[in-house]
Amino acid sequence: MEKKPKSSRLRLKDAAFWPPSLPAACPFCGETTDVAIDLSGGRNQSYVEDCVECCRPSLVHLHTDEMGDPSLWLERGDG
Ligand SMILES: [Zn+2]
Repeated sequence: MEKKPKSSRLRLKDAAFWPPSLPAACPFCGETTDVAIDLSGGRNQSYVEDCVECCRPSLVHLHTDEMGDPSLWLERGDG
């Protein structure tokens, strides 16, 4: 059994404290670039963005964990 202090409720980190971008490796060229986080699509989203190095379209996945911290990774967008 896990003991949890009664006084502190689990609070999601506010997205205002997120960094403006996160590093992610391109699935095509392997180059790590900073991918800008676009919060207009919400805390969990996927969108296509062209790699700045090789210009191929990567599928960007943004996921928020249970602590409210963002993680971001890239996938080939062409299936
Ligand atoms: Zn690339």
